[in-house]
Amino acid sequence: MQTVAELFATDTLLTGEEREIRDTVAAFTERRVRPHIAEWFETGTFPVREIAPELGTLGVLGMHLEGYGCAGLPATAYGLACQELEAADSGLRSLVSVQGSLAMTAIHKFGSEEQKTEWLPEMAAGRMLGCFGLTEPDFGSDPGGMRTRARRDGDDWVLNGSKMWITNGSVADIAVVWAKVDVQGKDVVRGFLVPAGTPGFTTREMARKLSLRASITAELTLDDVRLPGTAVLPGSEGLSAPLSCLSEARFGIIFGALGAARDCLQAAIDYARTRAVFDKPLAAYQLTQAKLADMAVEWGKGQLLALHLGRLKDRGELTPQQVSAGKLNSTREAIAIARECRTILGANGITLDYPVLRHANNLESVLTYEGTAEVHQLVLGKALTGSAAFR
Ligand code: FAD
Repeated sequence: MQTVAELFATDTLLTGEEREIRDTVAAFTERRVRPHIAEWFETGTFPVREIAPELGTLGVLGMHLEGYGCAGLPATAYGLACQELEAADSGLRSLVSVQGSLAMTAIHKFGSEEQKTEWLPEMAAGRMLGCFGLTEPDFGSDPGGMRTRARRDGDDWVLNGSKMWITNGSVADIAVVWAKVDVQGKDVVRGFLVPAGTPGFTTREMARKLSLRASITAELTLDDVRLPGTAVLPGSEGLSAPLSCLSEARFGIIFGALGAARDCLQAAIDYARTRAVFDKPLAAYQLTQAKLADMAVEWGKGQLLALHLGRLKDRGELTPQQVSAGKLNSTREAIAIARECRTILGANGITLDYPVLRHANNLESVLTYEGTAEVHQLVLGKALTGSAAFR
């Protein structure tokens, strides 16, 4: 018997260092997350303050960034770490993505030297948590429509507006908030660092989620939030700033979603081998094998694409359109695999005794955040035809 990774010999495409990083992250999730994840998902909790410093020690927070306590590792190694994190739960990978690829990347790319020195080492260690506030109640796929505004008042900035669906929003020490600023009569999107506890800045955890339950999601409200002039990220000018951070996080999802799919496949294969129906193991029926074969082929194609995109990124050649293609493919195939695996587990598949429906439910969010599947189709459609069809 072979695992899907063995079937495609994808390990032969990795360096020794990459395999070591992957195995270290997998061992961490095995010890620290997998024994508890079903309970966390069921109760809608995640001990982020306990786990974040452990992820810091593991070295995965901002692991692809250079300096300021970050490991400065290549993109493919980061992708492989995301894959193991998401094989445990998409909520865990979301924590690492938001901290490293969104909040820390925004500060690393667009922050002043003082901002980088103040926040990045603490965030890399997991002692300080960040969130990334772009989406608003009325503007998700079209963030350029945002209503949150920052205006100058003497040397200060004053922010008003609201953000929604913000991962770790209610537990973060620092929120990267994107707001429109009037520059000579034109609206320009800029990033601001809003520390937790600033007067006028409130957060509310969003309840009743059926997806990413082991992850904290919050609304942010900014009501005349007064910040010093130094709160702006000086290098951030225009919507391309937050979008470039999203591209970093999407890259992690290309690998990550396939981790969840791999975990579902393994659970389905293990189950089918031991579950007897009509007097023989479910795995011995052609219909089951056809399902498993088709899913394995999709997983293998996705993994080969992910590794190819990882190598392009390691060489500094990856384009946003290629990231869209990878994110679209990995999330769409991963959710299809998770749902098909659920059928193999029958009624048992709907419980938290197995990881499959938990992954499938999580992947609903993963399909939607960091650009929905439709938005990535539109990005690719534009690349292929030259016509933008967003509006
Ligand atoms: P809409 O933009 O209202 O889209 C609804 C539907 O319309 C989708 O199917 C979409 O594809 C489709 N659609 C949109 N435009 C077009 C078009 N031009 N043509 C055809 N179809 C179209 N945001 C943050 O800023 N920070 C976070 O940390 C964060 N964490 C999240 C965590 C979770 C669990 C979830 C669910 C979301 C999170 N988000 C976060 C928000 C996420 O990025 C948005 O939900 C996403 O961008 C989609 O926006 P929307 O939900 O408003 O959907």
